[in-house]
Amino acid sequence: MTATRIMLDENEIPTHWYNVVADMPNAPLPPLGPDGKPVGPEQMMVIFPETILAQEMSAERWIPIPDEVREAYRLWRPTPLIRALRLEKALGTPAKIYYKYEGVSPTGSHKPNSAIPQAYFNKIAGIKRLTTETGAGQWGSSLAFAGQMFGIEVRIYMVKISYDQKPFRRSMMQTWGAEVFASPSDMTNTGRAILAKDPDNQGSLGIAISEAVEEAASRADTKYALGSVLNHVLLHQTVIGLEAKKQLEKIGEYPDMVFAPCGGGSNFAGIAFPFFADKAAGKKVRLVAVEPTSCPTLTRGVYAYDYGDASGFTPLMKMYTLGHDFMPPGIHAGGLRYHGDSPLVSQLLHEGLIEAVAVPQLATFEAGVKFACAEGIIPAPESNHAIRACIDEALACRETGEPKTLLFNLSGHGHFDMASYDRYFAGKLEDYEYPRDAIETSLAHLPKVG
Ligand SMILES: *Cc1c(COP(=O)(O)O)cnc(C)c1O
Repeated sequence: MTATRIMLDENEIPTHWYNVVADMPNAPLPPLGPDGKPVGPEQMMVIFPETILAQEMSAERWIPIPDEVREAYRLWRPTPLIRALRLEKALGTPAKIYYKYEGVSPTGSHKPNSAIPQAYFNKIAGIKRLTTETGAGQWGSSLAFAGQMFGIEVRIYMVKISYDQKPFRRSMMQTWGAEVFASPSDMTNTGRAILAKDPDNQGSLGIAISEAVEEAASRADTKYALGSVLNHVLLHQTVIGLEAKKQLEKIGEYPDMVFAPCGGGSNFAGIAFPFFADKAAGKKVRLVAVEPTSCPTLTRGVYAYDYGDASGFTPLMKMYTLGHDFMPPGIHAGGLRYHGDSPLVSQLLHEGLIEAVAVPQLATFEAGVKFACAEGIIPAPESNHAIRACIDEALACRETGEPKTLLFNLSGHGHFDMASYDRYFAGKLEDYEYPRDAIETSLAHLPKVG
């Protein structure tokens, strides 16, 4: 019998995170302040504790995972690696398809892999409260859960349109004891200024980031936590790929290609970076980040210094960007609508060491439904992007007869996104063209540095 579920014991949860910086051919470029000079740790310490900043700037290959964090990871880790035999059969492909299933976490996605250590490191630094932003609620619910695990208060600025339209993740955050505000809110100067001009503003991730950062910067007992993009978040997510490597090793397999959906880059880095370590040592493996055609940061953006948020509060980061004031069309993979991308992922792409593809919305839902019918699990709309790209490769293998080994990250389940599936079944979802005009207008506003 072919093994379909490859499991690890609890004591096989990784003891260290893998830091890709140690294996990058060129050192990452530093974040810059408004004066164009590198941002010093003193400035960053206003919003992050020292331990997190040390990870953000580290070049050490292995960073120990504290026992308290591994203890909390045990609530759902190690996650299963599954061979998608039924999907292979449905596609008639000679390719072998494996997926790492991160939807078994309490919040249903990979995001608690970083929320847990962020809450822990803030706790031991004596911090009492964390602020953050959330779009559809995946990150907010993960930080609310993590705050509850370590006794930290969590305050969440949730993009207004999602606050109104997606009440269930808001209820999850409240279940885990967090305070949730619709953003723009009247709690911050940023929010009040926007509401004064436009009382019906529906909010954006960029505005919500500005509000959360403003509040953290103005209170000594409060820090800020970010769910993607930054180096330390990507670092924490590498437990995904480290486990997957061990699981594949148990059955004598190694992937030819690894796919993951890419919004800010954290789950892609999580599964792909541990394989990059082998690639840097000479092994052949292709690492593919998959994004929507409507928000094509990696495939159509420019590699430049830009702000992380809409109002220019954050330092400038060198990354692929569509411009910080780019407003992507309202697609149903909310986690993939960020204007920028992780600086580490961006640099690896710029240097030709990883790949990126963009896929249109309808084709991603078609792939997700095909996957659900074969394998049972209903994927998050974000995960459907990786499934689309992986299925396309498996179909190409059917043409060439090549038995490639393919691995993708099933970053979350879709149980809180069934309204999006409803719209797909009702024929109400659209494919958005590459919004050239909107991107060009936004790129004209890039800060003039670097
Ligand atoms: C947030 C999210 C993503 C995208 O974020 P990354 O930082 O790029 O990983 C992908 N899938 C799911 C299920 C998410 O919740």
